[in-house]
Amino acid sequence: MIYKTQGYCVKPRSFNDIEKIIMPFRTFINPDNSDYLPIDYILEDMSGINANYGDRIIRFSIYLRTKSEMPNTYGQTAPCDHNNVVKIFIREDVYEDACEGNLRARFTLAHEIGHALLHNNEQMAFNRTESKFPIYCSSEWQANTAAGILLIPPDKAKKFRDPIICSQKCGVSLTATSITMNNYISNGYITNNDIKGNPIYFPTDY
Ligand SMILES: [Zn+2]
Repeated sequence: MIYKTQGYCVKPRSFNDIEKIIMPFRTFINPDNSDYLPIDYILEDMSGINANYGDRIIRFSIYLRTKSEMPNTYGQTAPCDHNNVVKIFIREDVYEDACEGNLRARFTLAHEIGHALLHNNEQMAFNRTESKFPIYCSSEWQANTAAGILLIPPDKAKKFRDPIICSQKCGVSLTATSITMNNYISNGYITNNDIKGNPIYFPTDY
């Protein structure tokens, strides 16, 4: 899902900073490096791992919520509690849609995984503001960027080249695929020559 909101102001992270966190996780949790990441299984598998963040070891807990429990949001992630547990809440209809391959729902799960990996030590329940802050400090930009990398790692962008084919093979919307490919180009992971076929579409509302 493409979020227009900036969300919370968090520690600044560049695309490269985010890639360095997301890719080792993807390699660990999906050693087969499948083109189509089974994001519903990945989320389930997360609940069994301990993640070492150097100064602390954290665990992830996944909870499904009904529509009436979470009427206004598809997913939500709470930072570490005092037991170093990060809680990910997913609305059950979104989870079911993701299991069936719905692209928006798949991106929502990946987005929440992004929050869990990036923002587990950020107390986001403060400073919700309408005022502008740099995009690199936006919790939502960071989580969307992480979701794109998780679902379409650089080697897949290079392998499929055409955004439409990459979108279909990786199970990601064309918009999110295009944004992710654009990020890889502008950050030097791939070049314009690595992409072919249809021109990349750059939405203006991201
Ligand atoms: Zn979010």
